[in-house]
Amino acid sequence: MVEFNENHGECFHCHQVVKTPVFETACEWNRVVYSDGLPCVDVEQHHWIEQYCSARCRAARLTAVMARENVPILRAGLGPVETCAKCRGPVDMSRLHLAYLETKYNVDEGGQFTLEDVDYIAVLCRQCAPDERTTGAEVPIEVKNES
Ligand SMILES: [Zn+2]
Ligand SMILES: [Zn+2]
Repeated sequence: MVEFNENHGECFHCHQVVKTPVFETACEWNRVVYSDGLPCVDVEQHHWIEQYCSARCRAARLTAVMARENVPILRAGLGPVETCAKCRGPVDMSRLHLAYLETKYNVDEGGQFTLEDVDYIAVLCRQCAPDERTTGAEVPIEVKNES
């Protein structure tokens, strides 16, 4: 289950109020379960970093966000082995690892978020992101609360 912060407000790029769909840049600890059929992503912790009104606003901020996180952009798929964005070593996707992602959510009238689309911007191996307390960020990720 993706934990969602209720305080979605302004687009981090153009400062319009974000309604639906909501676009995010986020990071999460996950592992990919390969059983029959499609790979299934098991999410342990999900943190949104920034939110946007559109994919265009997100794209405009992506380089700056990832530079702040100190993680190079190296788009990844769903394994079983992907390349670490930092050291270019292998990432065993079936084991818990840190991933950076772009997401798109639809928000219904009741405020329920439904994940519509996800793209992996980078995945990190356990040498580069050893445990769940390490986000890869130099500054702690804080959840913005405007109120
Ligand atoms: Zn915007
Ligand atoms: Zn690495």
